[in-house]
Amino acid sequence: MNHQTKKIQLDDLVFDNRFIRELPADPETANNRRQVHGACYSRVLPTQVAAPQIVAYSREVAELLDLDATLCASDDFTQVFSGNRLLSGMDSYAICYGGHQFGNWAGQLGDGRAINLGEVVNRQGEHLTLQLKGSGVTPYSRTADGLAVLRSSVREFLCSEAMHHLGVPTTRALSLILTGENVIRDMFYNGNPKAEPGAVVCRVAQSFTRFGSFQLLTARGDIDLLKKLVDYTIRTDFPQLGEPSAVVYLAWFEEVCRRTAKMIVHWQRVGFVHGVMNTDNMSILGLTIDYGPYGWLENYDPNWTPNTTDVEQRRYRFGNQPQIAFWNLGQLANALYPLIEQVESLQQAMDVYTATFEQGWQQMVSAKLGLKIYDPDTDDELNTELLILLQTVETDMTIFYRKLALLVMDVELSNKALIAPLLEAYYVPEQLSPEYIERLCLWLRSYIRRVQASGIEKAERVKIMNAVNPKYVLRNYLAQLAIDQAEQGDFARVNELLELLRHPYDEQPGKEDFALKRPDWARQRAGCSMLSCSS
Ligand code: AMP
Ligand code: MG
Repeated sequence: MNHQTKKIQLDDLVFDNRFIRELPADPETANNRRQVHGACYSRVLPTQVAAPQIVAYSREVAELLDLDATLCASDDFTQVFSGNRLLSGMDSYAICYGGHQFGNWAGQLGDGRAINLGEVVNRQGEHLTLQLKGSGVTPYSRTADGLAVLRSSVREFLCSEAMHHLGVPTTRALSLILTGENVIRDMFYNGNPKAEPGAVVCRVAQSFTRFGSFQLLTARGDIDLLKKLVDYTIRTDFPQLGEPSAVVYLAWFEEVCRRTAKMIVHWQRVGFVHGVMNTDNMSILGLTIDYGPYGWLENYDPNWTPNTTDVEQRRYRFGNQPQIAFWNLGQLANALYPLIEQVESLQQAMDVYTATFEQGWQQMVSAKLGLKIYDPDTDDELNTELLILLQTVETDMTIFYRKLALLVMDVELSNKALIAPLLEAYYVPEQLSPEYIERLCLWLRSYIRRVQASGIEKAERVKIMNAVNPKYVLRNYLAQLAIDQAEQGDFARVNELLELLRHPYDEQPGKEDFALKRPDWARQRAGCSMLSCSS
C-alpha cells in the first residue's frame, strides 16, 4: 500500500470548519428552542445515546473520507457516528434556515434534528461536511424531539446511496446506527403513538446550504448577512465563478438554476418522487436532499405522490416536480434580489432553468429510447404517445423501459410476438384490451421505424438504454421489507439492498426478484405505497 492509498484512522481525520469559522455564530449557547437572528448557526452537542449499534455503512463514502472501510465495523466508529464521541477537530452546530412549506412562507425552520460535526478535508482537498440526522434537539427543533426512527433512517440511508449509484446528484450517507433508545411516533397522526427504535444517519455533502438559508435572511431584512452567506457560498462551493460581485451573483444564480434543472431531469428519468419539495429541502448545490416521504414510481402515473399529507393538493406529485423546482428558484431569486436589484436579469437567469431542463429532458428521453439525437419533428409525438400509453393501463415504468431494449426490431411481427418482452411490466393483464394492444403495437412499430431510420446498431441502442434505464431501484416495498426485518434486529436485507443498489444498471444474475413489480399486498400497505411525514 503506497502513501497515496493508505487508509487513515478516525483520529487522523483532518477538519477545517470553514462554515463556522467564516460565518457568524449565534452568541447564545444554551440549547433551548428560539428564533436565531444575525447568525448562520448555533453550536450544539449531539445527544448521547444509550447503546449504539451499527446497522450499515457505505464503503464508498468511507473511502471518500479516506477511511478504511473495515474501521466502520469498530466500536469506536459507532461511538463517533452515533454522536457519543466527538473527534478532535469536530465542533458541532446546527444551521439556521427558513423555507416555504407547501407554498407558504414558514419563517425560521433550521436543523431541528440535524447536527453538523465538522468539515473533513480529504486527500483530494475536498471539504465534506459530516452531519448526524436524528441526534437530538437543537435550538431549531421547535416543538419536536430532534430524533429519527429506524424506518425513516433506513429509507434515507439506502436511498441516498442508491441515488448516487444511479448517477443522480445527492447528499451521501456514511452510516446508519441504532441508538438503543425508543422514539415515540404517531405514524398515522391518528392518536395511536407507539415506541419505535431510534436511529442516527451520518450524512455527507460538500455543503448543506438550502434555498431557505438565503430566504430567511432576506425575509428578516438582514441583507448584510445575506451578502456574507452568498459570498461565502460562492467562494467555497463555486470558486470557478470568480470573486463575488454583482455580475458573479447573477452567474451564480444561473448556475444554481442549471444544476437544479439537471437534478430534476434525473428524478424524472428514474421515477423518483421527492415528496416534500419545500424550499428548505432544496440544496444550493443541486443535490437531492432530505429523504422523507419520497417514493419510486411503480406504475407510471404523473399524478402520484407518496406523501399522505399532500394527497389532496398533490403539489409535489411526480409530474409537477419540474414546475415546482422553477417556483422554488423564483423564491430564491426573490431572496437574492436585494443583492442584484435587476428583475429582468433574474428572470433571464430563470430562463436558464427552463432551457437546461428542456435540453436535458430531450436528451434523457432519447437515451431512454435508445436514440442518439432527439428530433422534435418525430420524437415529440413519439414520446407524448408513449407517456399516454404508459398511464392508460397500469404499467411499471422501470420494467417497461428496461424491457423495451429487448424489443425485436421487426415491424412485420405479430402483435403478440411484438409485445411479448414487455408483458412483465403490466400490473393488470385484463387491462390489455384488444384496442389497447392495437394502439401499443402501433406505437411500437413507429418506434421501430424511428430506430431503424436513425441507423443505430442494436448493441449500441441496448447499451445506451441500459445505461439510463435502471434494472434495480429502491422499490417502496423492498425498502419496507428491509425495515420490517431491521426492526426485528436483523440487518441482512438492509445490507443486501445496499449491495444490490450499488450496480443498478447491471443485470446481477440471481437478484432478479428485486426487479419484479410491486406485489399485490404492497399496493395499500403503509410504507409501500404511501408515507406520512412522521419520521
Ligand atoms: P422536513 O421538511 O421534514 O425536512 O423538515 C422541516 C423542518 O422540521 C426542518 O426544520 C426539520 O429540521 C424539522 N424537523 C423535522 N422532524 C423533526 C424532529 N423530529 N425534531 C425536530 N425537528 C424536526
Ligand atoms: Mg428538511
